[in-house]
Amino acid sequence: APKSFDYDLLIIGAGVGGHGAALHAVEKGLRLVGLMCVRRRREERRVSGGTSVLGSSSGLKTAIVEGDVVGGTCVNRGCVPSKALLAVSGRMRELQSEHHLKALGLQVAAAGYDRQGVADHANNLASKIRNNLTNSMKALGVDILTGVGTILGPHKVQVGSSNTVTSKDIIIATGSVPFVPKGIEVDGKTVITSDHALKLEFVPDWIAIVGSGYIGLEFSDVYTALGSEVTFVEALDQLMPGFDPEIGKLAQRVLINPRNIDYHTGVFASKITPAKDGKPVTIELIDAKTKEPKDTLEVDAALIATGRAPFTQGLGLENINVVTQRGFIPVDERMRVIDANGKLVPHIYCIGDANGKMMLAHAASAQGISVVEQVTGRDHVLNHLSIPAACFTHPEISMVGLTEPQAREKAEKEGFEISIAKTSFKANTKALAENEGEGLAKLIYRPDNGEILGVHIFGLHAADLIHEASNAIALGTRIQDIKFAVHAHPTLSEVLDELFKSAKVSH
Ligand code: FAD
Repeated sequence: APKSFDYDLLIIGAGVGGHGAALHAVEKGLRLVGLMCVRRRREERRVSGGTSVLGSSSGLKTAIVEGDVVGGTCVNRGCVPSKALLAVSGRMRELQSEHHLKALGLQVAAAGYDRQGVADHANNLASKIRNNLTNSMKALGVDILTGVGTILGPHKVQVGSSNTVTSKDIIIATGSVPFVPKGIEVDGKTVITSDHALKLEFVPDWIAIVGSGYIGLEFSDVYTALGSEVTFVEALDQLMPGFDPEIGKLAQRVLINPRNIDYHTGVFASKITPAKDGKPVTIELIDAKTKEPKDTLEVDAALIATGRAPFTQGLGLENINVVTQRGFIPVDERMRVIDANGKLVPHIYCIGDANGKMMLAHAASAQGISVVEQVTGRDHVLNHLSIPAACFTHPEISMVGLTEPQAREKAEKEGFEISIAKTSFKANTKALAENEGEGLAKLIYRPDNGEILGVHIFGLHAADLIHEASNAIALGTRIQDIKFAVHAHPTLSEVLDELFKSAKVSH
């Protein structure tokens, strides 16, 4: 390996994971962080007549390689545009609910929407955030190298067809793409993935959503608010299989049943054919267990929301003797890449969707920050059990830590008891003032020592509320301590206050 490198750190993929790592890398060594840091850089540039006097010299010399556009899935085809559409569906839902408006004493003329206007909102938001990301990296001195990155060997990456750069450390952050099972023909028009759906090119009268994970569920919220009929196709025996079963049941009672959403569970969509020559989209269903044909659905459109596949094409993993496992790049708990012989590949890390540990934007970015801590000399292991997850339906669902079945399994294996505490949103003043009393918070904990094992929330702003619990898990705070924390009245946060206070810890 050469003694000096072009960069201290080179990141392949400028999604949220890559971006988080890059910013943390250039900020390392600066005593200031975040906005203050950007301001200081701006000020120094202004004083020095337009050129950065600091470059990235105060942190790691960092480059990020991107083969497409900055922002990756989250900004361009994921979190950001989907949340813009969900902001619209939330408002539509309120305006459409006579019952809700009447309870608040409001009178509103019939609610409607302009499809292109809604699509523009999502698209404009993505552009805005993409520009912010690009500007923040440029302002802090990250070199953005355009082109596909291929690892040629330890420390060496080819960018595009001719440029080769060297780096002391390398982070792979190449993300994921929609996973489409065999037999399904995606034409991008009537049989679509989330990539297409987010463009909202049309609102079908009837859409089948294949997969009832958080992506499918969020789209059901959008489509039903915009007037589509939705049918779910789910291979497992229940809808929303990833959630705590009790929360899943409540969510089904609120998010599925009253919205006239039809569903087929325990079935696979074995073949899906796009609409053609006036014929509708056809979906052939087979029994998930017996594989016997079950039914054929005819719908206007089908959204394939069957998960995400890691993206590692053209990355040159063979040059570092790394073999993917179910497509994911194997890593240890410190995100260090493991080669085909089970050995760590020195100086090469993988973060985000490509390693499959937790396919969420904030997890990717937290892993990136953790790696930067390590390459700058601080041992750091991220506690994935403290990372929250959320589904932005109306109302929202959020969770951190273990579900009840997972906690029961762990308790049995390790020989301890667990207890459950619950609070309803119906007793919360703020929720009632908003006429949004439908909701539940659930705590799974150890009564012997007050350890928080999992928290699950369904209700208004659940995605914001979960952070008190995730911070408590991250910091190792026990229930006997957090129950004395004071919450402003009247706020939704009192739901968690009640939850922790109602737990019975023998400690
Ligand atoms: P990505 O964001 O996928 O970025 C990878 C980047 O690498 C891409 O820009 C790609 O072009 C680039 N790249 C790939 N290979 C190369 C190469 N060889 N050379 C150069 N560049 C390369 N997560 C949440 O936390 N909250 C949400 O609300 C949420 N909503 C979502 C909604 C939808 C519809 C979808 C699809 C996803 C959502 N996610 C959400 C998941 C989130 O988007 C991902 O977990 C996150 O984007 C992963 O970040 P990443 O940095 O690992 O990869």
